[in-house]
Amino acid sequence: MHYPDSKDRSAELLRLAIPKMAEHPAPLHPITYAVWYDYLSGRNGSLKAEVDAVTARSVPLGDELVHSLYTRHIAEAAEQATRRVSDGLREMIDDVGRSTSATGEQVSGFRDSLEAQGRRLQASSPGPAIDASITELLAGTRDAGASLAALAARLEAATAELQELRRELDHARVQATLDALTGVTNRRGFDEAMFALLEQQPAGEAGPSVVLIDLDHFKQINDRYGHVFGDTVLKAVAQAIRSCVKGRDLVARYGGEEFVVLLPGTGVAGARALAEQVRTTISGARIRRGGSNEMVGAITVSLGVAARRSDEDMQSLVERADQALYRSKTGGRNRVSVAE
Ligand code: GH3
Ligand code: MG
Ligand code: MG
Repeated sequence: MHYPDSKDRSAELLRLAIPKMAEHPAPLHPITYAVWYDYLSGRNGSLKAEVDAVTARSVPLGDELVHSLYTRHIAEAAEQATRRVSDGLREMIDDVGRSTSATGEQVSGFRDSLEAQGRRLQASSPGPAIDASITELLAGTRDAGASLAALAARLEAATAELQELRRELDHARVQATLDALTGVTNRRGFDEAMFALLEQQPAGEAGPSVVLIDLDHFKQINDRYGHVFGDTVLKAVAQAIRSCVKGRDLVARYGGEEFVVLLPGTGVAGARALAEQVRTTISGARIRRGGSNEMVGAITVSLGVAARRSDEDMQSLVERADQALYRSKTGGRNRVSVAE
């Protein structure tokens, strides 16, 4: 986030922010300050409109509301700006790449035609009167040919560099949708994939279904064996889930110790079968600790399955899977429940 304000201006914003923060119940952490700072700076129109609307209704700004304002009007706006820049850069690279290779082709074509003309002139030996000028012309043609060849080579190198830059951008974009610990898709990648799927779903296709997967008593694993081992368990669980899916199915880390599988074109029966397979794969696996031979007691997961109803939005589908997951937890864990 870039703040262009001078020291004096930012000190003034600080003075104005303090009474605002004191007036409302949210704790005085940096996120609350960022919200008021942006509000008072007058640069963030959408944030200002919502805060004004909320305060006009005398709604107090608590911690949750402040976090929500921050996420929607500050964090996501910054992310969207970065994305726009990267989209623009990508288009520019493609554009420059296209014109450079077109120019390169023209240059090579011109050089070939010059050489051919030169050879023809030499072969036709037109007589002594114009010999000298033809020799000069041929020498000039050869010089021009050589510089054009050099130019063509430089254009080719520039095109290759642009393509490399484009590959790096694509790679960075993919990395941004992956979870660093487990290597599966992260929450953002899941949201994007789900959004795209619901937008493009062919009429009459079943599903999609989602399977939410939450580790049972994971806090105890962390408490007993430490966070580092907890991380190892999360990686192993991600791998186990991955081993159960195929094709277009997408495995994502939905939150801390919660995973989700998105199953395009799959109805409730297929999703339930997959969930059952994930459950037995994980409960049947044994994880060894570090260098020791100590085996950790069975790790289990609880699962919630929901298949999309017609015209159902993403939030409602995931909520129903979450309710089913909750029933698996209260029903004794290590089980699959399906949303009605
Ligand atoms: P339940 O069966 O009801 O789901 O119990 P639980 O202990 O799994 O659930 P709870 O929500 O109480 O605790 C989740 C724990 O997951 C607490 C948190 O420290 C841990 N956790 C979340 N993310 C990570 C992570 O990235 N690494 C590690 N090691 N632990 C994590
Ligand atoms: Mg959980
Ligand atoms: Mg849990």
